[in-house]
Amino acid sequence: MGVMTKERQEELFSQIAGVIEQSQSIAICAHTAPDGDAIGSALALQQLIEVRWPRKQVVALLADEDEVPRIYRFLPGAGRMVHACEFGATADLFICVDISGGARLNQAQGIWSAARRRVVIDHHPFAEINADLWLVRPSAAATGVIICEFAQHLGVGLTPDMARCLYCAIATDTGRFQYQNADSEAFNIAALLVEAGASPSELALNVYQNYSLSYLHLEAAVMGRITTFEGGRIAYSYSTTADLERTGASLDECDGLVDVVRSVAGSELILFLKEVPGGCIRGNLRSKADHDVCAIARELGGGGHKAAAGFTVKGDLDEVLSLALPKLRLLLRGAGPEGEAGR
Ligand code: 5GP
Ligand code: MN
Repeated sequence: MGVMTKERQEELFSQIAGVIEQSQSIAICAHTAPDGDAIGSALALQQLIEVRWPRKQVVALLADEDEVPRIYRFLPGAGRMVHACEFGATADLFICVDISGGARLNQAQGIWSAARRRVVIDHHPFAEINADLWLVRPSAAATGVIICEFAQHLGVGLTPDMARCLYCAIATDTGRFQYQNADSEAFNIAALLVEAGASPSELALNVYQNYSLSYLHLEAAVMGRITTFEGGRIAYSYSTTADLERTGASLDECDGLVDVVRSVAGSELILFLKEVPGGCIRGNLRSKADHDVCAIARELGGGGHKAAAGFTVKGDLDEVLSLALPKLRLLLRGAGPEGEAGR
């Protein structure tokens, strides 16, 4: 895939605007088990289209049957998202954001296939999904960055509501501006968003200072189990269904647990596994140096970015650990002289 230039992005924005013009009913959807970028980008795009084209019917869909994760319910528009399984219509246009792969549309896959036109807006390097228009720019820190630039392209001023949604998208996907993707573009756009009405303290209060006691008890268990390999360069932990039952924490609260594991000093490759329904294990992979964990996630049927990727596989914790750990060891050994990455 070639590098997406600003000129090419502008061209694609014009084409996407053209397709929106020609459509009356528009469905927007992000990925299954949505994160802050998925929800924030979907809601902001919905609002942007409603401001620019007030006569269009725009719905933001949830790919799963679950409610919007509790920590994102403060976002304007979250309360009017519609479950894909309850959307009985055919959309003239379906735009998926932050999707990464077609299977991640989950229950919205049928609506996607039936839509008259299909557009992808994403920042995942392997956005494996066919569409009529495909705007994928992996250099964007978050899909929210691209949505913000689409608003600028359209000459639509950011409303405070859009700004709050987009700030959520960028702040969460950069791990509060701490990960490798937190570049000057992300900071510049964040500044614009704060100027337009986004509130960093609102985001922090709702997302990062809003844990249930149940979740914190789960986090304590996960912390207690952190194990390191390869002289501390690989860090690993896990959560079980029994943990969730015992603590009362819910599955969607587990998204931040991989960050607990990555906080170990000296760790470069991070693996967090959790038991999920259906006899499956969900894995989160992170890289703090230059290693590409997306390659491992893809081998296991998942995907993501070079420094942050995920997968879901059938099996139990032991099986999946013995599947993933050798891959992590190989990745570590294959990359550069010993010790060089131990900064
Ligand atoms: P997380 O580990 O936080 O669930 O995801 C990290 C990154 O990898 C996110 O950008 C997410 O969209 C992507 N990702 C996670 N799981 C999968 C998966 O199963 N398939 C694909 N294609 N991407 C994934
Ligand atoms: Mn994203």
